[in-house]
Amino acid sequence: MPKKKPDPAVYLRHQKSIWAGNIKDHYPKVKSLTFELNHRDHDNRVKPSSRTFTRSLEDSAFFDFECPYDKESCFGGGHDLTQPISDMIENQNSECSGRILCQGDQRRHGAKHSCWCELTYKITVIYND
Ligand SMILES: [Zn+2]
Repeated sequence: MPKKKPDPAVYLRHQKSIWAGNIKDHYPKVKSLTFELNHRDHDNRVKPSSRTFTRSLEDSAFFDFECPYDKESCFGGGHDLTQPISDMIENQNSECSGRILCQGDQRRHGAKHSCWCELTYKITVIYND
């Protein structure tokens, strides 16, 4: 059996989360960010999930959220909300929402295809006074 190589995408994600720093370092005007994230898989192989959480200024500014599939099933996937968040803050909007698809690769029955697990998000921001 050939030894499994470590996935560079997984390693990079880990490094990025360390390098990202705090919200206050990137967005000094921001007090907190509230996320409403809903995952849905069109093949219904993972249960739809929904979560809401808040990050405050001391929390990580890493907004590339993992795909609900495990690493064995989805390679290099994830939902990166960095761009919509920085656009929202740059324009001083109070919320942004949208939908993105996971761009990771899945391998099933020997075939490779895109994951396309869907994330719908709504992010609201509270700015410092
Ligand atoms: Zn995925």
